[in-house]
Amino acid sequence: MHARKRILVTGGAGFLGSFLCERLLSEGNDVLCVDNYYTGSRETVLHLLDDPHFEMLRHDITQPLYVECDEIYNLACPASPVHYQFDPVQTLRTSVHGAINLLGLAKRTKAKIFQASTSEVYGDPAVHPQTEDYRGSVNPIGPRACYDEGKRCAETLFFDYHRRHGIDIRVARIFNTYGPRMHPNDGRVVSNFIVQALRDEPITVFGDGRQTRSFCYVDDLIEGFVRLMGAPDGTTGPINLGNPAEFEVVELAELVVEMTGSASRIVHKPLPIDDPTRRRPDISKARNELGWQPTVPLREGLEKTIAYFERRLSGRAEHLDD
Ligand code: NAD
Ligand code: UDP
Ligand code: UDP
Repeated sequence: MHARKRILVTGGAGFLGSFLCERLLSEGNDVLCVDNYYTGSRETVLHLLDDPHFEMLRHDITQPLYVECDEIYNLACPASPVHYQFDPVQTLRTSVHGAINLLGLAKRTKAKIFQASTSEVYGDPAVHPQTEDYRGSVNPIGPRACYDEGKRCAETLFFDYHRRHGIDIRVARIFNTYGPRMHPNDGRVVSNFIVQALRDEPITVFGDGRQTRSFCYVDDLIEGFVRLMGAPDGTTGPINLGNPAEFEVVELAELVVEMTGSASRIVHKPLPIDDPTRRRPDISKARNELGWQPTVPLREGLEKTIAYFERRLSGRAEHLDD
């Protein structure tokens, strides 16, 4: 019989975290969601609050946490450049002190622990597409460094705890992911463009828009998380999780305008400092080790995301989940 696991999800009230909590509950687990609501909100998990197997705790992971659990998914950290640059020291503290506390918790409870790392560890990459053995090109003193270097340091801590204390770690390097339940003010490109298009406001393309990103739909990503956590002992990662279909930012803008039938025009704004020029995951490792690959093409994922924002902006969504 399937034993009910007690799973801790930090950052569980954020965009990805809320989908992960839902998925873990649907598989018959007890879920403890920990979040300080820095960028997340109770609304993303409102529909789970009646579930007796779901528990919500307001807590900042930079502080020690003493709970009992079998598995930990560490997702706590603001992910949008606007939000992670708002208080850069807090961002670093969350990645670094947060990782130490959760690894300490994993050590004491012997829990398996997953880290939501990022394609940003590759910085503005000289290798394309990015493979896991590429060590990256991060500017350590730029405005993105609080996020990039924090996540790099967290990876270091995960591997040190693994080598020194035998902790069972799973490190995923996540590439740009989008979907319903993103906050309208999240600030990342997909939600910005959709919200601007639905309001017939100018679409803000930074720079000439020729920089590329590879966009993964949230359901695909969550499947990758669960497969990585369930993979055989020793599957530590780091492992790229993302959709290898690469698009220019301006192509995304045009697609969103077309799909929403918006009257919006594209306007160009300055390119932020250190904005990576291209990004695309090599997912051979995820294919081989996890049998995983994305299944939702950009157009299909955008349809669902646009439908969500239409409901939300028209005030028709009673819960974020509707
Ligand atoms: P999000 O901002 O929606 O979620 C982050 C959550 O962490 C929020 O609920 C926030 O309140 C919480 N949080 C922040 N600091 C905290 C702290 N000190 N203590 C407790 N909770 C805290 O972002 P998301 O897109 O859901 O990202 C989740 C994780 O995945 C992050 O670690 C992010 O770095 C990583 N990631 C996401 C993407 C992506 O494209 N979505 C890409 C790469 C990595
Ligand atoms: N920690 C925690 N919860 C636990 C166990 C540890 O938050 O259940 C924190 C603890 O505060 C410590 C950190 O994790 O600062 C690292 O723990 P570890 O055991 O590795 O280090 P030590 O306590 O020896 O400094
Ligand atoms: N971007 C843009 N307009 C926006 C927001 C972002 O052109 O309103 C660009 C940004 O410069 C970057 C890409 O879209 O090149 C992805 O940005 P995002 O903040 O979503 O994530 P990143 O991958 O940079 O962390």
